[in-house]
Amino acid sequence: MTALPAAALPAGITALAVYEVPLRARFRGIDVRDGVLLRGPAGWGEFSPFWDYDAVESRRWWAAAVEAATEAFPEPVRASVPVNVTVPAVDAERAHAIVVASGCRTAKVKVAEPGQTHEHDRARLEAVRDALGPGGAIRVDANAAWDVDTAVQRVRELDAAVGLEYVEQPCATLPELAALRRRIDVRVAVDEGVRRSADPLAVDLREAGDVVVLKVQPLGGVRAALRVAEAHGLPCVVSSALESSVGIAAGVALAAALPELPFACGLATVALFTGDVSSSPLLPVEGALPVVRPEPDRVPTAGEATVARWATRIDEVLAA
Ligand SMILES: [Mg+2]
Repeated sequence: MTALPAAALPAGITALAVYEVPLRARFRGIDVRDGVLLRGPAGWGEFSPFWDYDAVESRRWWAAAVEAATEAFPEPVRASVPVNVTVPAVDAERAHAIVVASGCRTAKVKVAEPGQTHEHDRARLEAVRDALGPGGAIRVDANAAWDVDTAVQRVRELDAAVGLEYVEQPCATLPELAALRRRIDVRVAVDEGVRRSADPLAVDLREAGDVVVLKVQPLGGVRAALRVAEAHGLPCVVSSALESSVGIAAGVALAAALPELPFACGLATVALFTGDVSSSPLLPVEGALPVVRPEPDRVPTAGEATVARWATRIDEVLAA
C-alpha cells in the first residue's frame, strides 16, 4: 500500500492508497487503470477520474469517494444485482470467448471504435449473439461516435442482425438523440448526456432517451445518483467507470437501492482488469454480483510517478 500525502483531506479520511492495474484489452483508449482508495469510518471509497477529465469535472468523482468512505450506503432493497458482460472492441473470436467465460445472459458490446470499420462491429456482434444464444440480451455502446444518419443506418442493421436491447449514447448531443429516436425502434440509453452535463438533474431527457445510465463517481455519489434517477423517472442502468472492486461496490450499492431495476447493470468490469485491489473481487457468478463491500487487502503497488501524479491531482481537485 502506498502512502499519499495530500493537503487538507476531509475529516475522517485516515488512509489513502494508489493502485495501478493493466487491462486485458484496450478500453476507452487506456491500457492501464489507476486510482486512489480512501479509507474512512464507513469503509473504503474510490477516486479515479480518467486523466482526460479536468479538476473541476473531477470534483464529483471526489465527492463520491468521500461519501463512500464517510457515510453508510443507503439501505438495499435487493441482495444481488444482475450484470452484463462488457465486451471491448476486440475481434469476434475473443468477443465470443469473453461472453462464454462470463456466465452473463446480457452483453454490452463496444462499437464504433476509432480505427475500426462497421464490419468489425458486425462480426463482433454476431459472435456475441452466437455465444449468448437466442435468449440473451445485447446492447451496444457507441460513446457518441455517430451522427444521426449514420446511427440510423448502423442501429437498424445491427438490430436486424442480432437484435438490440438498447443502444447507448449513439450520438453526442441530446437533440441528435431525440432526432434518432424518432427514426428507430430500438431504445436509446443516455450516458454521457447525463453524467458529463453541468447539471445531471436538470438535463431534459424526455425526447432524447428511454433509459438513463447512472455512474456513481461521475454523478457525485450514490445519493446524488439516486436523486438523478428520481428526477428523470426513466428506467435506470447502473454502470461502472471502470473501477476496482472498491468503486464497483458503490455501484452495486446504488443498483441495490434503486426502487426498480429492469435491466442488467454494467458492473462486471473488474473482469477487464488483469488483477484487483481485493482478494475477493466483485466478479459475477451466474450473471449477478452480491451486495457486498470487498476489503482492499491486496492493492497492487503503483509506480512512484503514478503516486506523485495522484497527489497533485487531489490537491488540484480540492483547490478547484
Ligand atoms: Mg457508455
